[in-house]
Amino acid sequence: MAKVLILSGAGISAESGISTFRDSGGLWDEYDVSVVCNYDSMQKHEDVTIEFYDKRRSELKSKEPNYAHKRIAELKNMYKKEIAVITQNVDNLFEKAGLKPEDVIHLHGFLTQLRCQDSYCGKVFDIGYKSQKEFNGGRCLTCNSKLRPNIVFFGEQAPMYEELNKQIQDCELFVVIGTSGNVIGVNTMAQFATRSILNNYEPSSAINDAYFSKVLYKKATEAVDEIAEEIETFLNPR
Ligand code: NAD
Ligand code: ZN
Repeated sequence: MAKVLILSGAGISAESGISTFRDSGGLWDEYDVSVVCNYDSMQKHEDVTIEFYDKRRSELKSKEPNYAHKRIAELKNMYKKEIAVITQNVDNLFEKAGLKPEDVIHLHGFLTQLRCQDSYCGKVFDIGYKSQKEFNGGRCLTCNSKLRPNIVFFGEQAPMYEELNKQIQDCELFVVIGTSGNVIGVNTMAQFATRSILNNYEPSSAINDAYFSKVLYKKATEAVDEIAEEIETFLNPR
């Protein structure tokens, strides 16, 4: 199990031009998130949900990783076993920054994938930046059932949380970058670790920063060198 756990959220991708959830703007303003990202209402408004994710997927094509993604990818590639990279983001900017898909755990799904709606089949397909329709008419290649975005919607189970819970038990240094803590309770998680670092652009009402050993309220691209230095010192004590 890794000694260092890096948990990121929408804030790490903000400087790459992807709107965060709560800071809003762009696509998020055009759609009612409680409708498009909600399992029950998706049944009634499937077209709107598909259109929303099609647009986000197509937008992702031109988005580039920023210095924070790149620095973390570099560290993870240097210390494969010692560092775990877990993200709430559904974008592929860590992968674009050089991480292999198996080296990033996406807690809330992955935008460039579709999944079969038949739970017995459940097959996942990489579709790149295509629209859902463009991929086999939106049908599963194995069983021909309807496909859906491979995203965890509100009201759904997030299977990868089990992995997060496992990783936090053994983690010694816990690093949080760009999350408001509304979806994942980082206060409790910080108490599991010997040392913890919090980096957000500004304080969040859902995070008590007194639980963290170091607090950096600045942009991720400006904080990441200090974070990287601390991780390296931690992994290579004199
Ligand atoms: P959030 O929008 O609730 O919070 C964003 C946090 O990032 C805030 O605390 C803010 O201070 C901080 N932030 C903003 N700009 C920053 C910067 N340049 N550097 C450092 N920090 C910065 O995001 P969340 O906590 O991740 O929760 C939102 C949910 O929406 C998640 O479940 C996530 O899956 C989803 N989401 C994903 C993406 C994406 O994939 N890129 C984008 C938006 C939302
Ligand atoms: Zn299927």
